[in-house]
Amino acid sequence: MLEPLAPLYVALVHYPVVNRRGELIASAITTLDLHDLARSSCTYKISTCYIVTPLKDQQTLSDRLLKHWCEGIGRRLHPERELALKRLSVVESIGAARDAIETREGQAPRIWASTARKYPGAVAHGEARELLRRDARPVLLLFGTAWGLSSSVLEEAETVLEPICGNNDYNHLSVRCAASILMDRLLWDGR
Ligand code: SAM
Repeated sequence: MLEPLAPLYVALVHYPVVNRRGELIASAITTLDLHDLARSSCTYKISTCYIVTPLKDQQTLSDRLLKHWCEGIGRRLHPERELALKRLSVVESIGAARDAIETREGQAPRIWASTARKYPGAVAHGEARELLRRDARPVLLLFGTAWGLSSSVLEEAETVLEPICGNNDYNHLSVRCAASILMDRLLWDGR
């Protein structure tokens, strides 16, 4: 089973996303999202999951959560949780996440996006998996919150992944579940 050549990073985006009316909003942090995205990132050896929010109070909330689990009583009681949560990095924008990866990797990442809705030109998961194995350029995969990533983010992404489809028409996965499924489909090495 070929290991991915390209380092995969992920971002949980709280702005720009849309609400149920399709209006552009900045969504609030859900602490459960942070725990689950961190644990999934650790499970699949994703070095960093960026938490994107421009809202200062939400950055403070995220930093407090990380301080509790990575330095405080949480670390002493659940040391394994620190292993996961220390992969989270709170940034104010997708651009900031992109720049952080460029600084670390020496080249800007490809930007990939995920959505629950059908999207013209979307790439199948198997093809995306192969792309990670053919090219060493890092990839930043964006996950939305609220009712999904804004259309501008999807349009600006180099690649939009096909939606995860189950066995019926019900399509209301949480971002936590969707992220785990896509990480597995893109990265699982068959061991
Ligand atoms: N209705 C929203 C949409 O169309 O993206 C889904 C809202 S969900 C809470 C937010 C995020 O979870 C989406 O932006 C996407 O990143 C991810 N997600 C949810 N369902 C998905 C699916 N079936 N396929 C791929 N990603 C999904």
